[in-house]
Amino acid sequence: MKLAERMSRLGTETAFVVLAKAKKLEAEGKEIIHLEIGEPDFDTPRNIIDSAIDALNGGWTHYGPSAGLPDLRETIAGEIARTRGVKVEPPQIVVTPGGKPVMFFAMLALINEGDEVIYPNPGFPIYESVINFIGAESVPIQMKEENQFRLDVDELASLVTPKTKMIIVNSPQNPTGSVLTGEDLRAIAEIAIKNDIIVLSDEIYSRIIYGGVHHSIYSIDGMPERTIILDGYSKTYAMTGWRLGYGVMPADLAEQVAKLQTNCNSCTASFVQKAGIAALSGPQDDVKMMVDKFSERRDAVIKGLNDIANVSCLVPDGAFYVFPNVSAFGIKSAEMADRILYEAGVAVLSGTSFGAFGEGYIRISYANSIENINKALDRLRTFFKGL
Ligand code: PLP
Repeated sequence: MKLAERMSRLGTETAFVVLAKAKKLEAEGKEIIHLEIGEPDFDTPRNIIDSAIDALNGGWTHYGPSAGLPDLRETIAGEIARTRGVKVEPPQIVVTPGGKPVMFFAMLALINEGDEVIYPNPGFPIYESVINFIGAESVPIQMKEENQFRLDVDELASLVTPKTKMIIVNSPQNPTGSVLTGEDLRAIAEIAIKNDIIVLSDEIYSRIIYGGVHHSIYSIDGMPERTIILDGYSKTYAMTGWRLGYGVMPADLAEQVAKLQTNCNSCTASFVQKAGIAALSGPQDDVKMMVDKFSERRDAVIKGLNDIANVSCLVPDGAFYVFPNVSAFGIKSAEMADRILYEAGVAVLSGTSFGAFGEGYIRISYANSIENINKALDRLRTFFKGL
């Protein structure tokens, strides 16, 4: 069949491509350590699973309202009010199957062809993909190592034009683990307000943070009316396969996003939404346990990488990724990631999977056991020594 022209503008997430390559090697008998995919290796906490089972037995197996079940929207509004310090009403919440649809639907609802959208690069690849898909201009802002991979606000100001409709911010960030400071966010907010720009604030890693606190641009005066928060359950509660996320936005936009959802997937699975209430209102000990474990693994992976000659790696403050600089070897990142997979048996991603400014880096996800991380570090040490 002849595809629509717009399909040539749609990108993808290389993590799934590398995962498929790694699985093929495993089927051939090779032992691969998976440091490519961005998902917690923990099981979903028991109380959440139990509540989904109860919901299934209780008949929560039917369609629900497109914007989400009222009691879940209320729970989320309460959670956002508590964590972002801003009063939020349930009509401002749309529950979605994972966090991803929030970016897709919000951009479909707000961005015209020819509008400009500024997005982090290296950054989550779906931003650039969706911006291009809908016919807008994708304007990258480089996350520079010398700026701890944080967005440089002076550069942001220089990229704004009368056509800039949206800025995407992501903190803690994928793939670098960088975290924006309160000061960064105030400067971004000032630019957004002055130039009447919408902010899509991807806060999916807001609970996976080490030492510091999560600052949200939503908390700044003048921002709730121009901000969409993307958040969800995938990373915080180890629920990637459940598909449960949400957007927080002005109520009139929420209505339009819910309408897109009616046209696309009708609603998010009802029993999954019931489990979402249990997750937010139940004990949070498992979240703390997971973050503590990620923190230990982060320390191990940083030390191991920085002990390898010609590899250097910043200490990230959030998420579960590191983004080591491997440019000293003079090998393109895509080739480097492939060789690490085929020669060392460790699946990692090329920095360029996250945009052109990722050249010179690889991304390692440390959402794996400390035993596997140590084994992977041994293999990487041998691999880099042999280059
Ligand atoms: N935003 C970022 C920055 C991510 O890294 C991811 C997943 O990897 C998502 C959004 C999507 O999350 P979900 O699986 O809930 O759709």
